[in-house]
Amino acid sequence: MKPTPGQARSHHDHLADTGPAEDHGRVVTTNRRAAAFYRQAQRARDARQATTALRLAVNADPAFGLAIADLGAVTATASKDPSRPQMSWERHHIEVVRTAATGKAQRAADLLREHLATVGCDPLAVRIAAQLRPPDGQDDDFEDLVRRLPGCHATLWPSSP
Ligand SMILES: [Zn+2]
Repeated sequence: MKPTPGQARSHHDHLADTGPAEDHGRVVTTNRRAAAFYRQAQRARDARQATTALRLAVNADPAFGLAIADLGAVTATASKDPSRPQMSWERHHIEVVRTAATGKAQRAADLLREHLATVGCDPLAVRIAAQLRPPDGQDDDFEDLVRRLPGCHATLWPSSP
């Protein structure tokens, strides 16, 4: 039976139908347990909390491409290419954090802007790219990009001392 416009399914049903999702309901290519840890990482207040949650996510699914790429970027260790086909938002996210991890801040900011134009909000992509920017780097419009983030995850992690 086709749902009529007046009977739009709730957010919750949507998640139940599409499988594990991140904090905005986008599908993540992993199991439910790992996705729950990934959502914790998205809500983390600082890089340390996020790293802990990402490690738990990778423990729960050692082939979780998104969490592997994020963990590699925040811990400055090389990460393998995802072994499973990824959702397109996941591919773009992974490209952003990996580019940021190689120190190409301007390129990472450009990719991030394109990515956010599609997805609206992606807290780990933004925070990881922000964290990996060289402290004395040129202003690469990053401030502007951060100012225009939607309110759901608008804050960055405090920079490490
Ligand atoms: Zn958000």
